[in-house]
Amino acid sequence: MHPDVQSLKICILGAGMGGLTCALALARAGFNNITIFEVASNLGFVGAGIQMAPNMARILDRLGVWDDIFKDAVVLNETSIRQGSTDTELGHVDLRYIKEAYQYPHTVGHRATLASELYNGCKRESDKIKFEFGTTCENVRFGAKPSFTAVPRHQGVPYEVECDVLLGADGVKSNTRVAMLRELNVEAEVKDTAQAAYRIMLTREQLSSDPELLALIDADKVIRWIGEKRHIIAYPVSSKQIYNLSTTQPDVNFAAAPSATYTTKGSKKAMLDVFGDFCPMIHRMLDLVPEGEVCEWKLRVHAPLPTWVHGSVALVGDACHPTLPHMAQGAAQAIEDAGVIAVVLAALPSGAGPSEINQALKIYEQVRKERAETLVELAAASGRALHLGEGKAKEERDKQFAALKEGKGPVPDKWADADIQKMVYGVDCMEEAEKIVRGYSFSRDS
Ligand SMILES: Cc1cc2nc3c(=O)[nH]c(=O)nc-3n(C[C@H](O)[C@H](O)[C@H](O)COP(=O)(O)OP(=O)(O)OC[C@H]3O[C@@H](n4cnc5c(N)ncnc54)[C@H](O)[C@@H]3O)c2cc1C
Repeated sequence: MHPDVQSLKICILGAGMGGLTCALALARAGFNNITIFEVASNLGFVGAGIQMAPNMARILDRLGVWDDIFKDAVVLNETSIRQGSTDTELGHVDLRYIKEAYQYPHTVGHRATLASELYNGCKRESDKIKFEFGTTCENVRFGAKPSFTAVPRHQGVPYEVECDVLLGADGVKSNTRVAMLRELNVEAEVKDTAQAAYRIMLTREQLSSDPELLALIDADKVIRWIGEKRHIIAYPVSSKQIYNLSTTQPDVNFAAAPSATYTTKGSKKAMLDVFGDFCPMIHRMLDLVPEGEVCEWKLRVHAPLPTWVHGSVALVGDACHPTLPHMAQGAAQAIEDAGVIAVVLAALPSGAGPSEINQALKIYEQVRKERAETLVELAAASGRALHLGEGKAKEERDKQFAALKEGKGPVPDKWADADIQKMVYGVDCMEEAEKIVRGYSFSRDS
C-alpha cells in the first residue's frame, strides 16, 4: 500500500463487533491513522453467548485473534430442535461435517471473550489505532471530507472531527444512518418485529444438583425448544462452565412502553408465564434466574436501505442490516463487512481522494449488501416457521421435520440446513472483494 493511502484518517463510530473488527482489519492491512469513538466508557459487553459460524471464524483467524477466542469456545457437534411443551425431538442435525467442509467448526462462545480478544488485537496495533471512549458522535456531515461532532461524556467540550473515511458502526440506533438518510432525503421504514428476547446465563454450579440440566451443559449440542410465537435456544459456553439461553417471545413489554430504550429489567413471573406451557425441565432452568436479574431485549430491524454508502461515509453491521437472531449471523455479517472494507480501502491508489474512496466503498456495498439482506430475510423467515401455531402451515413444517428424521429435505430451522450453510459458510467475502479490486481501475473524477 502507498504511504499516503496508509495514512488516510479513518474514524470509526462505535466499538461493537463491527467497529472493533474494522479497526483491526484496517490496521492489519497497513492503515495507521485509525480512531474509534465509543459512547460507553469501556467495552461493557452484554453477558450472553454467541454462535461463531465458520464465516466469522475464517476472518477472525486471518486477523490473528481466532486462536485466543477458540480457547474457551465450545465446538458444536449437533443441533436438536424440540417441542417446547414436551421436550420431544422434532429434528436433529449432525454438524460435525462443517469443519471438513468449511475449515472451521461451528462454535459457540461468550461475547465478552469475542469482544475482548478483538480489543486485545486492536491494542497490539496501538501505534495505528486510538480509542476515544465515553464520547458520543453526533451531527455527521458529508462533505468532500466527512465530519462529525464528538461529545465527551464527562463535561468535556464538544469538538469537531474531520476525516478522510468515516465508518458508521454505531449499531441498530445508528446516528450515522439517520444522518445519511436525511442527507439523501429518503426514509427507511423501521420494522417492529413484535419480538423480544430474554438472555440468560446459568453457571455450572447452579445446575450442579440437577442431573438432567448437567447433561445439557455437558453436551456438545445446541438445542432449540419451540412453541407458538416463542422459542428458546441454548448451548454451553466458556469451556462448558456456563449454559447460555436466549429466548424469543412476543414483545409485550416494549410494545406498550413509549421509551426509546431496547433493554429493560423484566419480571421473573412474566418470563415464567411466557413459557408456562413448556416442559418442567425448562421451568427448572428459568427458575434458576435470580429475581431482579431478568433482562429483556427488544428485537428491531428496519427495511433494506437504498444504500450503505454516501461520499466517503459507509455504514457497517447493525447500522445497515440489523437482523433477528434466528440465523445467528448478525455479528458474523458485521465482521464480514469489516473484512471487506479493509480489502477495498487497501486497494486505493496513491493520491486517492474522495472520488476513489467512494468507488472503493461502493465495491464494499456491492460485495456485501445483497448477501447481508438475504440473511436478514432468511432469519425472519426461519422465525416465522419456528413460531407457527396450529394449522396447515405447521402441519407442513412438521412433515419437513419428519422427513428430516429419514435424512431427507430441508431443515425448517434454516441456520442448520446444509444448503443454506453452504451459501453462508462457503462464501469468503474478503476473497470476493480481492478479486473485484484486483481487476478494478479507479477513475479520478467519476
Ligand atoms: C438475542 C440476540 C442473539 C444474537 N445472537 C447472535 C449469534 O449467535 N451470532 C451472531 O453472529 N450474531 C448474533 N446476534 C447479533 C449481533 O449481536 C449483532 O448483530 C452485532 O452485535 C452487531 O454489531 P455492531 O457492531 O454492528 O453493533 P453493536 O454491537 O450494537 O455496536 C454498536 C456500538 O456503537 C456504539 N454507539 C452507538 N451510537 C453511538 C454514537 N452516537 N457515538 C459513539 N458510539 C455509539 C454503541 O455503544 C455500541 O458499542 C444476536 C443478537 C441478539 C439481539
